[in-house]
Amino acid sequence: MKKLLTLSFVLCTALLFSQETYLHCGRLLDVKSGKLLSEKTLVVSGKKIKSVQDGFVSGRSNDNIIDLKDKTVLPGLIDMHVHIEGQSNPKRYIQRFTQNEADVALQSTIYAKNTLMAGFTTVRDLGGSGVNIALRKAINSGIIDGPRIFTCGKAIGTTGGHADPSNGVKKELMGDPGPKEGVVNSPEDGKKAVRQRYKNGADVIKITATGGVLSVAKSGQNPQFTIEEIKAITQTAKDYNMLTAAHAHGDEGMQRAILGGIKTIEHGTLMSEETMDLMIKHNTYLVPTITAGKQATENAKIPGYFPEIVAQKALEIGPKSQSTFGKAYKKGVPIAFGTDAGVFPHGENAREFEYMVEAGMSITEALQSATITNAMLLGMEKSLGQLEENFLADIIAVEDNPLDDVQTLQNVVFVMKEGKIMKSE
Ligand SMILES: [Zn+2]
Repeated sequence: MKKLLTLSFVLCTALLFSQETYLHCGRLLDVKSGKLLSEKTLVVSGKKIKSVQDGFVSGRSNDNIIDLKDKTVLPGLIDMHVHIEGQSNPKRYIQRFTQNEADVALQSTIYAKNTLMAGFTTVRDLGGSGVNIALRKAINSGIIDGPRIFTCGKAIGTTGGHADPSNGVKKELMGDPGPKEGVVNSPEDGKKAVRQRYKNGADVIKITATGGVLSVAKSGQNPQFTIEEIKAITQTAKDYNMLTAAHAHGDEGMQRAILGGIKTIEHGTLMSEETMDLMIKHNTYLVPTITAGKQATENAKIPGYFPEIVAQKALEIGPKSQSTFGKAYKKGVPIAFGTDAGVFPHGENAREFEYMVEAGMSITEALQSATITNAMLLGMEKSLGQLEENFLADIIAVEDNPLDDVQTLQNVVFVMKEGKIMKSE
């Protein structure tokens, strides 16, 4: 009996391996050219796209055919700025003291799933407790469903800065966190913090170059690192091949981050024209996170949602993100799609496309930023961001043509990740 079972298992496996999936795509958006192609078949074998063929082609009898003839098919989307561990709610400031890691881990599995179901097959997580590293491992090993994650683990800040985990608490709880916890106060600390993150299993490095909106501290825009500290961090990150990101609302801190060698500026809310030129000169990318700016502004209007000190900053800074993005885009600043999901509900990431288009970017360019550009920044340009032969089969479909109706991106009806169907409506 046992032998028979083993034999049938081997046969099934052999059959599975040889089985291919044929996706019949009524419309296929070639994000590179911005052209909408009609009647194509994507042949998926294992984790990869084996070929892209004209017309609706069928394979052998055991192959799987997926009918997407009345849909628009495009590559899985990439969000360069999420916080997969948490989601904004009025209890957030209390939860720091009530939630255990296990609580965070359990809720993060739902956020991960919501993100994937919304067509975001890859994300860069820019800060949590480190549960995000365990989440990445669980997703990669197939235990739970979620997007491919590149994570910074815990962000790096300075004492009292935006990423100091003990901001705003009473003295007995404050302690004196150091590089291990992601709080640095010298170039040497910076190197230690990067190496510690590498050791912890982080993929990328995030610093909080200026004050932030949601931390319990006075300024949402003051510079919080010296340029020497930033340089020590980016040079060390380079040794470990880790992409660097800097949270920045204020202009001075942003300039230091660019000159210090940071690759992506997150938010960039109060960016001056001079800094836009600096971004262009250094080929630094802006990750606009307009959705977060809008949502934080809305939440700040709800009495008691944020502590008073946070609400004030949200009302001052939040509304500026979209107009700054518009100016930066028109000036030619390189743009990488990112939303800061977690500040708003996970799974609503595609709202960002609508806001980008509203601010003057074409939908084709917005989609390119969320696919080709982000894949390149993550060093995955040969396997992610396009529907081409030998690329990973991260494939999504929407009802309508996004070139005519950007909102259709908020209603993803089909998701495949690495050749596995995750959603099919
Ligand atoms: Zn963020």
